[in-house]
Amino acid sequence: MTDHRSEAERAAAEAEELERHARAGRVRPVVFKAPAAPAPPTHWADLKPAERVAAVLAAGLPKFRAAQIDRHYFRSNSDDPTRWTDLPTAVRTDIARDFFPRLLTPIRVQTADAGTTVKTLWRLHDGQMIESVLMRYGVPGVPASGSGRQRATLCFSSQAGCGMACPFCATGQGGLRRNLSTGEIVAQVKEAQKVARLTNVVLMGMGEPLANYKRVVRALRLMTGEMGLSARGITVSTVGLVPRMRELAAEGLPVTLAVSLHAPDDELRDTLVPVNQRFGVREVVGAAHEYFQATGRRVSIEYALIRDVNDQAARADALADLLAGGGRGTGWVHVNLIPLNPTPGSRWTASRPRDADEFVRRLERRRIAVTIRDTRGREIDGACGQLAAAERSGAASR
Ligand code: SF4
Repeated sequence: MTDHRSEAERAAAEAEELERHARAGRVRPVVFKAPAAPAPPTHWADLKPAERVAAVLAAGLPKFRAAQIDRHYFRSNSDDPTRWTDLPTAVRTDIARDFFPRLLTPIRVQTADAGTTVKTLWRLHDGQMIESVLMRYGVPGVPASGSGRQRATLCFSSQAGCGMACPFCATGQGGLRRNLSTGEIVAQVKEAQKVARLTNVVLMGMGEPLANYKRVVRALRLMTGEMGLSARGITVSTVGLVPRMRELAAEGLPVTLAVSLHAPDDELRDTLVPVNQRFGVREVVGAAHEYFQATGRRVSIEYALIRDVNDQAARADALADLLAGGGRGTGWVHVNLIPLNPTPGSRWTASRPRDADEFVRRLERRRIAVTIRDTRGREIDGACGQLAAAERSGAASR
């Protein structure tokens, strides 16, 4: 039967169906569609290249200023037009006012690992809050930053809050507040670039990136294009929104896909990652493998190890069967085990070291590449959403 509904109508129906489905079984429903919210002020990074040219012409500036502004904003470490001295003094303030509204205001900064891990809570124009974490490694003279070559990773957000309702996650417990604009996503990277040369950026902070698909993809195009970041250093996470995973595979953007699996069986994953009720583990892993085939990028499977919940030896074997099954083999995938960083009041906690070791051993025995993620920033409410949750409850009690 032909579906005559518009894309928006289909999305609304899909969102409604998901919410109805989720309401039947849990306290917080999965929410796909962001609540209506006033749009953030339009920023230079929100405009497509042709719109940027049109904007400078409309402002009475010659066309070449668009490329000049692009170079300053996307390629330098400065996001302040008043310092771009090759622009006429008279127009710098106008450019700042018209194209570079302040999108992020830092309201809390926490550091750990001798200052090489920095977590920032940002306030957006409408009072919503997001988080980003900058982790620098191999900093000379700072043993706490680890050994090896110098590198810097930014973990940043795609939405204010998250609608995916994963019960072990502080962000999920707070619900979805709104989608970030492309400008707000890119601005987090720009802020980090002021203090470090980024080697990796990972969209693994607040939010489900593929639920804010268009703005995220535009941000990825800016990062790999105008900003000159290597697609190989960019990771996009998802809980497994299968249609969007397929779309991303076709974008021609060879970024790394990280799939938050957390369980190898539908029964458990339905609880840990509620959207699994819509896209089951086999479908998700199948789409992840298709992503590898389309892009040549090895997929990362994220698996938070939760004591006595998903860390049993039998589940390690089931995970190996799932990943290598269907003739997929093991070369397409890498498993990233994450010691759970419990959220306040949560009934879940991190696995015992011996259980984590056994989990690793069983995957390795099946020749599946596996690592245990370091636990940078643990002492600073490192798991996404904890800082925002603390700020909100603090504000409520003030
Ligand atoms: S774990 Fe990720 S997808 Fe799940 S609720 Fe938290 S931010 Fe959203």
